[in-house]
Amino acid sequence: GLTSTFLSRSLVPTTSPSLRLRPRSAVPMTVVCMDKSRKEKVVVIMGATGSGKSRLSIDLATRFSGEIINSDKIQFYKGLEITTNQMSISERCGVPHHLLGVLPQDDGELTPSEYRSLASRSISEITARGKLPIIAGGSNSYIHALLVNRFDPLTHPFSSNTSISSDLRYECCFLWVDVAVPVLFEHLSKRVDQMMESGMFEELASFYNPVYADSKNRTGIHKSIGIPEFDRYFSLYPPERNHKVSEWDQARKAVYDEAVQEIRENTWLLAKKQIERIKMLKSNGWEIQRLDATPSIGSSSREIWNKTVLDESVKIMKRFLVK
Ligand code: ATP
Repeated sequence: GLTSTFLSRSLVPTTSPSLRLRPRSAVPMTVVCMDKSRKEKVVVIMGATGSGKSRLSIDLATRFSGEIINSDKIQFYKGLEITTNQMSISERCGVPHHLLGVLPQDDGELTPSEYRSLASRSISEITARGKLPIIAGGSNSYIHALLVNRFDPLTHPFSSNTSISSDLRYECCFLWVDVAVPVLFEHLSKRVDQMMESGMFEELASFYNPVYADSKNRTGIHKSIGIPEFDRYFSLYPPERNHKVSEWDQARKAVYDEAVQEIRENTWLLAKKQIERIKMLKSNGWEIQRLDATPSIGSSSREIWNKTVLDESVKIMKRFLVK
C-alpha cells in the first residue's frame, strides 16, 4: 500500500542503516526472545517549542545511555535546519538520533500511522541494543499515535476530549518541560530575531518556490513556520534580486517586518496549542510529570537548569528504571 511504497522510497538512506525497513522475519533474535509480558520502557519528553526539550533529551540520553527518536513532524525532513530548529551534529553530543532530518523535502506528509510504525521499529531496535529510547519533539498527535494501544487513524485525538486513550502499549515516563507563557513568549520572540540573524532569511530565500504558495501544494516541510509567512515578501521581491539590506527602501523593509511579526505570532500560537494538548493528555490519564523550566529561560547558567529541571528529571527517571 501507500505506506510501504512511501517508506521504502523515502526511508532507505545510505547513511543510516538503522532506518532500513526489514521484513518481520529478519528482526534481530534479541527482540523476538524478549519477555513479551513486559512492556518496553520509553521516556517521552514533551513541551512547547522553545521550552528546552532538546536540551533535556541530550542530558538524559548521555546519563542513561539513551537514543533519541524525534517526534517533531517538521524536523523529519532534510533541510531548513535553521527555520525548523533542527539540532546540529555538534549539539547532539554524539547521541544517536532517529527520524531526524531524514525525509526528502518533497515527500508528502508522514501520516500518524506511518510515524507509529517507523518510531515503534526504532524503539524495538534501540531496546534490542540495550539502550533506552527517548522520544522528544512537539507533535503531540504523533506521540499519541505512537503510544496508544489501539490506534484509530480516522479520529484526530484532540478533536474531542473523549478520543484520547490512556491505554498505552509501552511503559512510559512522561516528562513535560513547562515554561510560564509570558516568559516563553518573550523568549520565542527573541529566538525569532536570533534565527533571522543566523541565516533563516537566506535559508527561506533559497527554499522559495512559488509553486508552494498555493495552499493545496503545501504539505510537510512546506508548512514550516517561516515559509507561508514569507510568501508575500518573496513574491514582491524574488530571491534572485535580493540585493544588500542597506539598499532596501521603506516599503520593502515594512513587508519584511510584517513577515517576521507573523512568524512570531504563529510560533506563539503553536506553543499555546502544544501546551493545551499536553494538558488534554494529562487530564485524560497520561501520567505526565511537569517540570517548571521558567527560571532557566534566558539564562545560560548550568546550575539553574540542573536545579530546576535536570536533577528532578534524573530522580524521576531513576525511579522509573528500577520499577
Ligand atoms: P496538527 O494535527 O495540528 O498538524 P500536530 O501535533 O500533528 O498538529 P504540530 O507539531 O503541532 O503537529 O505542528 C503543527 C504545525 O506547526 C506544522 O504544520 C508547522 O506549521 C508548525 N511547526 C511544527 N513544528 C515546527 C518546526 N519545527 N518548525 C517550523 N514549524 C513547525
